Amino acid sequence: MSERSLSGHTMSGSERPSRAFAKNRTCREPGCNTKLSIYNSGKFCHRHEPMVVPRTRGRKIA
Ligand SMILES: [Zn+2]
Repeated sequence: MSERSLSGHTMSGSERPSRAFAKNRTCREPGCNTKLSIYNSGKFCHRHEPMVVPRTRGRKIA
């Protein structure tokens, strides 16, 4: 997974407002300086963001 796929592409002309978040945000995890994507609404990088998938140990959730 590369985040560079969008770089090298310069926007010219119209600057339309896109639904993006602030630039230059970094992961909130202490010691982690990973820059967050402007499209990442979270506060953590992909490594530190809380898992949303519940771990079920053989237990069934109805
Ligand atoms: Zn992080």
